[in-house]
Amino acid sequence: MSDPMNVLAPEHRRLRIGDAWRDAAGGATFAVEDPATGKTIAEVADAGVADGLAALDAASAAMAEWAATPPRQRSELLTATYRALIGRSEEVARLITLEMGKPLAEARGEVAYGAEFFRWFAEEAVRVEGRYNTAPAGGYRILTVPKPVGPCVFVTPWNFPLAMGARKIAPALAAGCTTITKPAAQTPLTMLFLARIMEEAGVPPGVVNVVTTERAGEVVSALLADRRTRKLSFTGSTEVGRLLLRQAADNVLRTSMELGGNAALIVCADADLDVALDGAMVAKMRNIGESCIAANRIYVEEPVREEFTARFTERMGALSVGHGLDDGVDVGALIDEAAVTKLDELVADAVDRGARVLVGGERPDGPGHFYPPTVLVDVPEDARMLRTEIFGPVAPIISFTSDDEVMAQANDTEHGLAGYVFTRDLRRALRFAEGLETGMVGVNRGLISDPSAPFGGVNQSGIGKEGSHEGILEYLDVTYAAIDLP
Ligand code: NAP
Repeated sequence: MSDPMNVLAPEHRRLRIGDAWRDAAGGATFAVEDPATGKTIAEVADAGVADGLAALDAASAAMAEWAATPPRQRSELLTATYRALIGRSEEVARLITLEMGKPLAEARGEVAYGAEFFRWFAEEAVRVEGRYNTAPAGGYRILTVPKPVGPCVFVTPWNFPLAMGARKIAPALAAGCTTITKPAAQTPLTMLFLARIMEEAGVPPGVVNVVTTERAGEVVSALLADRRTRKLSFTGSTEVGRLLLRQAADNVLRTSMELGGNAALIVCADADLDVALDGAMVAKMRNIGESCIAANRIYVEEPVREEFTARFTERMGALSVGHGLDDGVDVGALIDEAAVTKLDELVADAVDRGARVLVGGERPDGPGHFYPPTVLVDVPEDARMLRTEIFGPVAPIISFTSDDEVMAQANDTEHGLAGYVFTRDLRRALRFAEGLETGMVGVNRGLISDPSAPFGGVNQSGIGKEGSHEGILEYLDVTYAAIDLP
């Protein structure tokens, strides 16, 4: 197989600003690693504040013309991007695996998912509508006109290097906004490749800018402090999200915040256990557990606890761990050493408090950031892993005996992103779907991400929605005209 890096020529491992691919002012670069080997796979430009502001110059300069571009034309450019991504799916997937570590099959899934945002919002671009109606008191008319909010700043995480950017860039462009994306420093290559694909598709210069940097704090602060920026959309940890919300307040920016989660997955005794097991495996292990909607706590009703635990543990133990590009690998490398150390510490803490490890629980020797699929039982309520976003292949199982008790436990968190329930009883399913304080609930299903559905959390998991019709509204302001017809 050829080197996955061949898809991104050295001249495109640089900043995408306006119509140029350019080095950072001063020429600084930083290294990108393959997390499965620890080896450097590329050097990319390390932008500073001046580069970030140059990208904002480009996005601001392109704004009026892009906003005035006919929606059908914008839509067709998004469709061309969708087709290009699907056409080059294998190349994009290999690049994702190389820089992020997930198995190739999962990376292919991410390309299909990420590309779909371009198709979905190509369809939404031509359906942005206002209203015209008589005021309730009569006498005048109300006209509403949706308008693009303006230049947008996007800050994205490393766990889905394509999809987290795609679900911001696609609706923004559909609405008529221009963009600056700052991808995670650990996975900048896929976003640069997307920018290259969009350039080839004919997206005008200045509409999609990408600024790679290891100095996120200073570059993003400068962008948020500049009045030309009109919107921030951030996906990442709740901690950084809070910080950016404070900064966004100074210019009263529109914000969308997709933050951390702590999903409970509830298996009722009346569930179809085959369905519940499949659902739990997907909800826990998709993306090596490095997903904001990953099942963080698995609650199983006492009568089926033993059978569920035995079968789940067997399936977790049968997964193969290795380099994501190798055939047959189910569990790739975690993003970095800190992620492995965090899992080690969470497992040790739970064991200290009385939990038992049924499978996994010990990091392997050798290079790369690997951790084995791990199942724990008898995990006490005060174990840190029940209060922390685990973000890896570690599954604590807790038993429950009443719906009220498990609902209270599930909701006992500052987060509110996703929850899951498995039951054949419609009444119970609906009670949990309504009672879980989360933005999303999977009912008899472990996979809930869908570009046509509104993705987003409540409480400290975020503000706003991505995907679906709601997704484009995040990029539109509404002007209203009161019209007298004397
Ligand atoms: P993170 O540390 O918050 O980083 C996310 C992004 O913010 C990265 O691009 C990072 O840049 C940047 N950043 C970090 N500190 C910053 C600062 N002071 N100012 C401006 N930008 C800053 O999160 P992560 O570890 O990459 O991602 C994992 C988290 O994302 C988890 O909590 C997960 O739940 C969440 N997530 C949420 C969703 C959702 O839809 N709700 C989806 C996926 C992930 P650097 O890379 O340079 O640090």
